[in-house]
Amino acid sequence: MEFTSAAGEQKYAALVRVAAETIVGLDFDGTLSPIVDDPAAAHIHPDAGEVLLELASQVAAIAVITGRPARAALDLGGLEEVGNAIGDAGKELYLFGQYGNERWSSTNRRVIGPRPPVGLASFERELPRLLRRLDAAAAHVEDKVLSVAIHTRRLPDPEAAFARLLPELESLAARHDLVVEPGRNVVEVRSAGVHKGLVVERLVEDLHAGGFLFAGDDLGDLEAFDAVDALAKDGLPTLLVCSASDEESALVARADVVVHGPEGVLALLRQLAADARDLRA
Ligand SMILES: [Mg+2]
Repeated sequence: MEFTSAAGEQKYAALVRVAAETIVGLDFDGTLSPIVDDPAAAHIHPDAGEVLLELASQVAAIAVITGRPARAALDLGGLEEVGNAIGDAGKELYLFGQYGNERWSSTNRRVIGPRPPVGLASFERELPRLLRRLDAAAAHVEDKVLSVAIHTRRLPDPEAAFARLLPELESLAARHDLVVEPGRNVVEVRSAGVHKGLVVERLVEDLHAGGFLFAGDDLGDLEAFDAVDALAKDGLPTLLVCSASDEESALVARADVVVHGPEGVLALLRQLAADARDLRA
């Protein structure tokens, strides 16, 4: 592997020290699975199963995060089998499909559909206070699971209330990484969109991660890189890995380590598992 800087090498060493609390996030196409002309004919690298199982024994969890539907990635990657082996060893493999809209795990062995966006619950907790302050406590709040709608039509002057609420809801939503969708006497608050960065944030929160490694190869991985950078700024040991090919280089400048394709990614993960084990011994 090729560290892009001495700082990258230090980051790797720091991550090895917290390997047991580290989450390893992995893109699928171009990272675990070589790029092929026909995406339906893609296949995970033949060594991936063995490497992931080995790595799982040394880290907190492994998450494959892909734009593909979860079912397709499970099948193309033989990941159900790998997940079962990891689960049997008392560890966890996650698979997030469609940029996080779908979730599968080796404990809960079925694909679960869209989940409420990060930030929605905390937005809803702050909402009543905002409504009271704007003299709109009687507004009807409709919880739509993936979003929340605030209706002003039951208020004395629905249009004035709407005009009063909209900018305030907009800024509260923004503080929770949500966006507003204004309608007729209704403001719907929903996710700004799903992307891999939100998956990274949610995993760290849910699993109380003490470190994060993310490997990707493409523009769809940029938000995950951003999220990991933010974790690093908060002091978490992190490592960004770019699986470089001859054609795509968007992530090279952002990465701590550049490796060559899935072969290189797996070599790095194998190394990480070995170094973590040695350190513990
Ligand atoms: Mg990819």
